[in-house]
Amino acid sequence: MKAFSFTVKSKSRSQLIDITSSVRQGIQDAGITDAVCVIYVPHTTAGITINECADPDVSADIIACLDRMVPWRADYRHREGNAAAHIKASLMGSSVNVAVSAGRLMLGTWQGIFFCEFDGPRTRNVNVYAMTGKGLPNA
Ligand code: ZN
Repeated sequence: MKAFSFTVKSKSRSQLIDITSSVRQGIQDAGITDAVCVIYVPHTTAGITINECADPDVSADIIACLDRMVPWRADYRHREGNAAAHIKASLMGSSVNVAVSAGRLMLGTWQGIFFCEFDGPRTRNVNVYAMTGKGLPNA
């Protein structure tokens, strides 16, 4: 197994940040050619997802929809005042898996990997754990 990490700086409370190029660069720098990568966000008020990277309105719609589903102010018990961020983080999840074959991230044409900030602005960490091994089939 190989692993690496990088940081992400968010600029607002809620933000989807395309981290595909950072993941791709890390995979290249680590010399990973064939692997299944677990891209993991070790935070309780941030998440990760894979979705369309061509039209930035998709990210904006996801943020807006999550805000409607989980308003910042509501009858929450969590005393820190950021219950909405915790709930959104759980809705999005804390990891995604992407195969790497011949050094290439096996994403679909329109797919990007998005760090999901819900309690920014902050500096965050993303960890990538690559389970290496030859013989992954090309999709
Ligand atoms: Zn909290």
